[in-house]
Amino acid sequence: MTPAPPVLDVRGATKVYGTGDTAVHALRGVSMTVERGEYVAIMGTSGSGKSTLMNIVGCLDIPTDGRYLLDGTDVGSLDERRLSILRNRKIGFIFQSFNLIPRMSALANVELPLAYGGVKTADRRLRAEAALARVGLADRVDHEPNELSGGQQQRVAVARALVTAPALLLADEPTGNLDTRSTADLLGILDRLSTTGRTIVLITHEDEVAARAKRVIRLVDGQVTEDRRHARVDGPPPAAAQAMEGAR
Ligand code: ADP
Ligand code: MG
Repeated sequence: MTPAPPVLDVRGATKVYGTGDTAVHALRGVSMTVERGEYVAIMGTSGSGKSTLMNIVGCLDIPTDGRYLLDGTDVGSLDERRLSILRNRKIGFIFQSFNLIPRMSALANVELPLAYGGVKTADRRLRAEAALARVGLADRVDHEPNELSGGQQQRVAVARALVTAPALLLADEPTGNLDTRSTADLLGILDRLSTTGRTIVLITHEDEVAARAKRVIRLVDGQVTEDRRHARVDGPPPAAAQAMEGAR
């Protein structure tokens, strides 16, 4: 058996916006790999290239130079259609502004990526209900976004990101619009997901959020200046967590 490839494998990625005198070098040769089950925070000040890296990692954009392999697939070789299929199948997105569809129930919002993925109605419903139960919203499935608090809306977004069982959960400032209490709730959910073996990459500029991750990558001016793992004493070791994930 060949070992599983890293979930993310970014090799010497550069990104240049524009040309000539006005060219902006947003990424200047970023390399990083993220293995299955890791929980990584990407930090950096405004303009350091976080969103640019996020767009590449999320298959929303391609690097100017360098390569990116997502779960073993070389993204640079794909056309727009294949890229969107890969994105739908492999990545669950969580955004700062929740990005739920208004006037659609929580359940319908969570079903959406499954609908795009061609999953049948009955199966879709069961899986969406299970995902909402996992974020503590079993009793809110029929509520529309405007009938939910910000914290609840972000939990719906997490359920939507999870429902396809993606290889990667990718979050861009997921606590940026949340109050202290909802931030704590969301971080608790991410902790639990990490414990059950989910791979999580989140962008944040908040130290307290980054402190919950097991690894912190710091970007300065389009380059990685720090890549630090910190030992967490709580939670089972990775092997046990993966066995748990397999048993679910
Ligand atoms: P961050 O998310 O860390 O704030 P970004 O990745 O958004 O940083 O931006 C990195 C640099 O690239 C900044 O100097 C920004 O102005 C520039 N930039 C980002 N997107 C574009 C774009 N579409 N066109 C031109 N320049 C851009
Ligand atoms: Mg940004």
